[in-house]
Amino acid sequence: MSDKAILPGATLGMLGGGQLGRMFVMAAHSLGYRVAVLDPDSDSPAGRIAEHHIKSSYDDKQALQQMSELCEAITTEFENVPTETLQVLEQTNIVRPSAKSVKIAQNRIQEKKFLAENNFPTAKFYPIQNENDIRQAMSELNSSSILKVATFGYDGKGQAIVNNVDEALQAFNQMDQVACVLEQKVELASEVSVVLCRSHHGQISAYPVGENVHVNGILETTLVPSTLDQSIQEQALSEAKRFAEQLDYCGVLAVEFFYTKQGKLLINEVAPRPHNSGHYTLDACICSQFEQQVRMLCGLPAGSTEIISPVVMFNLLGDIWQNGEPDWWTLLAHENVKLHLYGKSEARNGRKMGHFNCLGLGISDSGNDLLKQAHDLAEDLPQTK
Ligand code: ATP
Ligand code: MG
Repeated sequence: MSDKAILPGATLGMLGGGQLGRMFVMAAHSLGYRVAVLDPDSDSPAGRIAEHHIKSSYDDKQALQQMSELCEAITTEFENVPTETLQVLEQTNIVRPSAKSVKIAQNRIQEKKFLAENNFPTAKFYPIQNENDIRQAMSELNSSSILKVATFGYDGKGQAIVNNVDEALQAFNQMDQVACVLEQKVELASEVSVVLCRSHHGQISAYPVGENVHVNGILETTLVPSTLDQSIQEQALSEAKRFAEQLDYCGVLAVEFFYTKQGKLLINEVAPRPHNSGHYTLDACICSQFEQQVRMLCGLPAGSTEIISPVVMFNLLGDIWQNGEPDWWTLLAHENVKLHLYGKSEARNGRKMGHFNCLGLGISDSGNDLLKQAHDLAEDLPQTK
């Protein structure tokens, strides 16, 4: 569509009202934009703070018409928005990232095929449609594997570790035999990710590599700068950039990597949006990943992606609400700590409720000190009975 930048004052559209949408709204507001959020949930974190909240399903024709009329450009906060929705909106509005890009990232089979076709290293994988596929794949994998549903998985949900054919078949049946990917379970030395943004003219700005620790399939911490060898970090950055180019991607993109004990860097998955492992950019960078999302959507230049301080991001899950509201006072008594809560009304176990960033700023400069501080602070958050 048009090559002209969309300037502050315009209304931007966000498909999805979760915490990523909310942080987009905040970034858009600070640049003087208005936002319309489409999300069926009447109490969604982003919908609550946007100028417009259309409470309809993502395939509601009337709602899409309304979004199209209200907004000059539209983006998304989650890959599971139906491709048809994006295609419909693309006919009348600027949509970034494109329906084509989102489509690839929303289905593990398509995503892995795209990666393999373009020579990106991944763990060995097999598309699974039926029990025969399972038998065939297990005989070839011959080791501990992970069965993952092809669509709608997140935070390790829709995944099962399987050690033999019987376990794989049982897991497949428990998943109601929906399309899956069976993947080799690799020996992880560490996990890293790259968040970058790419303009509609193809200019790429990448944030430094984030080093991630997952617990039970859910991200717990991101450390930046990463302690991984510089050469491996450079490899991750160049692979992520090459991926964005191959897809002719426009917007913010995250690429998750496995670094194996055998010294291989593999792509795990990609996300066509800002990413949890990029939340450190809110406080440790001049321009956050959400501001970049606004800028890319509007055809504006990217802001700086450099870090201005070492940082550790720690995710806050609903579990710590067990005995009531956590002890925020103690956390906030540390002047190098920034707290971000998403305003969700119900705290469930495993649900992402917020995060905090511990910043170096001369208070403690080493990544290890920051990691220790983050863990100590997180431990003290739940109220004791
Ligand atoms: P999210 O969307 O929150 O990133 P997800 O549900 O899409 O999570 P994955 O990224 O596929 O799930 O996996 C979650 C975590 O499980 C990984 O970050 C990693 O720690 C572990 N894991 C997944 N696949 C493998 C694998 N093939 N080998 C070893 N560990 C794995
Ligand atoms: Mg993941």
